[in-house]
Amino acid sequence: MKILAIANQKGGVGKTTTAVNLAASLAALGQRVLLADLDPQGNATMGAGIEKRSALPTVYQILLNQVTVRDAKMRSEPGHFDVIPANRELAGAEIDLVNLEQRDLRLKVALAQVADDYDFVLLDCPPTLNLLTVNAFAAAESVLIPMQCEYYALEGLTDLVATIKKVKQRLNPGIQIEGLLRVMFDPRSTLAQQVSDQLKQHFGDKVYDTVIPRNVRLAEAPSHGKPVLAYDAHCRGSKAYLELAGEILARARKGAGVTDTEGN
Ligand code: ATP
Ligand code: MG
Repeated sequence: MKILAIANQKGGVGKTTTAVNLAASLAALGQRVLLADLDPQGNATMGAGIEKRSALPTVYQILLNQVTVRDAKMRSEPGHFDVIPANRELAGAEIDLVNLEQRDLRLKVALAQVADDYDFVLLDCPPTLNLLTVNAFAAAESVLIPMQCEYYALEGLTDLVATIKKVKQRLNPGIQIEGLLRVMFDPRSTLAQQVSDQLKQHFGDKVYDTVIPRNVRLAEAPSHGKPVLAYDAHCRGSKAYLELAGEILARARKGAGVTDTEGN
């Protein structure tokens, strides 16, 4: 089971769009996928076609050890993956968890129980570096960072990389940056090209070859409660996220080749 946190503390950069559509694309390629919504906004829950108001229990009860992942999981019928939903209740988790033991490790412990049930677990993080995000980083093997190639994009990454380093020292020595994903990309923009080049200079082959274009179908699909593959399978957004899923699988297989002796 590979756990990927999808994170960027900058708001509106395509984290949730990537989480929902990567989940559906990995599922379309035959993978068993769980998507956990860690954002009280519940956008990933809605985008997967689950009504967040009725969706109880949620990740909140999992963090408080009141239910297990198996009890809380729901099925995204249009996406062919499982979902741990979230809703506004999760906004209180920070306060409720603060005095509890191992408050950073709650998600990691809960997900360990379903290690055999899934090939991929995707964690859709909120746009802050709070306790929920730290729980995600503590549980994750690696972090997938969606970003727009804008002027301040690289500066924003500095804080994120620093947080990942802190988590590495304190909670999760194995955590890595999985990859940087350029989203809402406009190839005609000179600035986007420049930022893209800088990104490759800094992060090398951590930058995915796959680029997600700006595509209105990706923005429309959530209002229909569907991943884009179920909404318009042939649009550019669908093709791009399928290509990303293929790239991630190819990288995982390459990595597995090296560490095969460890039996994972
Ligand atoms: P938040 O920080 O609030 O959680 P986020 O990082 O999860 O936001 P999204 O909700 O995925 O970002 O995307 C922000 C907005 O941009 C949404 O309206 C979404 O539909 C739109 N969007 C995301 N990716 C694309 C794309 N490739 N093309 C067009 N619109 C997109
Ligand atoms: Mg989001």
